[in-house]
Amino acid sequence: MRLATRAGRTVLVSPDGTTAVDLAKASDGAFGPDARQVFDAWPELLGWYATAGIDFAAGDLFELSELGAPSPDPRQVFAIGLNYRDHTEESGLTLPEQPTVFTKFLGSFAGPVGEVTLAGATVDWEAELVVVMGKAARHVAAADAWSYVAGLTVGQDFSERTFQLAGPAPQFSLGKSFTGFSPQGPWLVTPDELPDPSRLAISCTVNGETVQSSTTDMLIFSIPALIEHLSSVLQLSPGDVIFTGTPSGVGGARTPPWFLQDGDVVETTIEGIGTMRHVCVKAK
Ligand code: ZN
Repeated sequence: MRLATRAGRTVLVSPDGTTAVDLAKASDGAFGPDARQVFDAWPELLGWYATAGIDFAAGDLFELSELGAPSPDPRQVFAIGLNYRDHTEESGLTLPEQPTVFTKFLGSFAGPVGEVTLAGATVDWEAELVVVMGKAARHVAAADAWSYVAGLTVGQDFSERTFQLAGPAPQFSLGKSFTGFSPQGPWLVTPDELPDPSRLAISCTVNGETVQSSTTDMLIFSIPALIEHLSSVLQLSPGDVIFTGTPSGVGGARTPPWFLQDGDVVETTIEGIGTMRHVCVKAK
């Protein structure tokens, strides 16, 4: 199943990504249109969808620019730093013994296609796999964790490096939460649709040049390990979002550093899910 939000309503997306069916209309009001309600009823939604026989040919044609984040109103947002060995090394830091966790505030959420305003002179890219939770999770063992996942989507963890690293206690959360800095999409894909949801190619290009290219099996803390760790601290709720970290190739780690400029086009792709496209614009 592929699920997105369009004009604030949850939609089901056809396997080829070209048409959308309004979930509330298709289910006679049983699910949606509000995304939080959809994730709160996730197991019931999966059961309904299995026999619903959605007619995608009768759905609406749409543009990716009409879509928002698949889970646009989560109760909690987690983001993991230093979760690929090669990115940890390029950052000059030692490998973490437990996940490094911060948040990306909700006001920074955006859809899969659009503009991103450069909030400073040192804005960087970070392609990331994003997990959306499908069930409340507390003290979940890694071996059981996949059954708590609603699906996966593509994310960008845009980061203003100067702001992020300033001060005696670095401001990761706020430096990665300027308006538009947390785009996600184009849609959520359920794990059953992916041949191997724990090994997906992930890449980022700037103006067509590949700057990041890896696979998600290179994560230091896998998706199940992250869910075990986070749920040992607090309850995760349906719809909660986890940015799982970025592989090597960010601009700030290069010599000389490479930061985004007015007019640059950032494309972020994950195998089996899709591609996001963002055009950088200078702050007015
Ligand atoms: Zn990140």
